[in-house]
Amino acid sequence: MAKHIYHYNTHAEKRYFLGPEHHDLYDIIALNGNIVSHTPPAIAAFLATAAKDFYIDPQTHAFQHATIHLKRDVSDKKKKEKPLYKFKPSIKKLAKERLGTPFSDVITKDRPINPTLFLDNGKIKNDVIDIVCQSVKRFQLDMIESELDDEAKELMGEPSTFLPKFVIAPYFYLSKHHWKEWLKINISCYQRMKALVKEVPTYLSLVVSKEALDNDGAIVSALSTVKPDGLLLWIDSHVEEELRKSEVERYIHFLQGLKGTTETLYNSHGGYLSILLCHSEKGCLDGVAHSVNYGEHRNVIPIGGGLPMARFYLHSLHSRLRWGDVVEIVQHRGWLDSVGSYREKICKCHQCQELFEEKGSAEKAFDLYGKSNPVTITRRNGTIVRLEYPTKEAKQAATRHYLYNKAKEFDDIREKTFSELLQELNSTYNEISVDSGEDAVAHLLTWHKVLET
Ligand SMILES: [Zn+2]
Repeated sequence: MAKHIYHYNTHAEKRYFLGPEHHDLYDIIALNGNIVSHTPPAIAAFLATAAKDFYIDPQTHAFQHATIHLKRDVSDKKKKEKPLYKFKPSIKKLAKERLGTPFSDVITKDRPINPTLFLDNGKIKNDVIDIVCQSVKRFQLDMIESELDDEAKELMGEPSTFLPKFVIAPYFYLSKHHWKEWLKINISCYQRMKALVKEVPTYLSLVVSKEALDNDGAIVSALSTVKPDGLLLWIDSHVEEELRKSEVERYIHFLQGLKGTTETLYNSHGGYLSILLCHSEKGCLDGVAHSVNYGEHRNVIPIGGGLPMARFYLHSLHSRLRWGDVVEIVQHRGWLDSVGSYREKICKCHQCQELFEEKGSAEKAFDLYGKSNPVTITRRNGTIVRLEYPTKEAKQAATRHYLYNKAKEFDDIREKTFSELLQELNSTYNEISVDSGEDAVAHLLTWHKVLET
């Protein structure tokens, strides 16, 4: 059965993982190494309460990019100081206290890791691979248990529940020009890690640039010699709604190739297209991860979680729409005229239901999702931009609404046939495009066309 995975990026998101109304909406917690390293006691306590399967992403790829991406501007803006970039404390801690050399050298020398660290004239340096695997293994297997007190351990039961569901071998991004070297390094790391870890399965994390994807055959063939226990796939900036027909075809072809090399294949940042591909009639994927109300796609750079902006997830479109766009669609069709039509055409999740009761009408309930305050932020290049940032109430409501809708998508692939789901894509496309144009729904037809063959 397809696994529904949530990324845990900040402690502010904790509430969406816990409590009877949230706990059953997902299957696995993906913790980023940064937050585990920075606040281990809080993470251990959180896991003891959540009582869910989890894994820890060691984020080793973060250390192969220009170090500016690991830093933040610490200058005093009020005093109009010049920008001053320093390593983020959490990254420093991850590198220096948890992962050790060679990751800590990135901080002390202020220089990223490059393939020559692991390769000598194209030959793998096994001693370096071993050092890296030992520390990345320790970090994932021992960190949580060492932070749990006896009471928490008792609460969690069997000692095996303190362990992640699987460990991730050290991994690096298959970049534009050096993907071949990095792939070789990743495979060596996987093999060493697999030999070291007896307690749980070992997964290989595959982070690919679009350029590396041009060589999907070579990637699949390299992986087929290893047959990893599991694979986590992350394609850089892979926005499923924006893919052309040929790109959807290529994506599916890649998944089918990867699936031939492993038992378990998860997409680390995917949307509804990926969820559909988990359907038992397709079987291209075994699970999909996203963050709470964002993260259905992610750029490899910058390193970090991204900001949830004011967007509303419209279930029939399977897309997080900008507020103006969603208002146009729902008003145009009279979907806000009554609670009945709202429930039928927009959503009948618990969050929307609570708002009907609280606000008294479909229109007022819907308005809450669009409430925002203007904020001005200064970009790294000095430009000042004005953004509409959702109010706290709007953000919380939109997040819960989003999570209920994602859970429904996973329910749908379990309960409906693939052709029923395809039919839904088509009918939504027809209904919306006829008088709102096809911009907001073009992806539905693209997916439909590729998936029906
Ligand atoms: Zn809703």
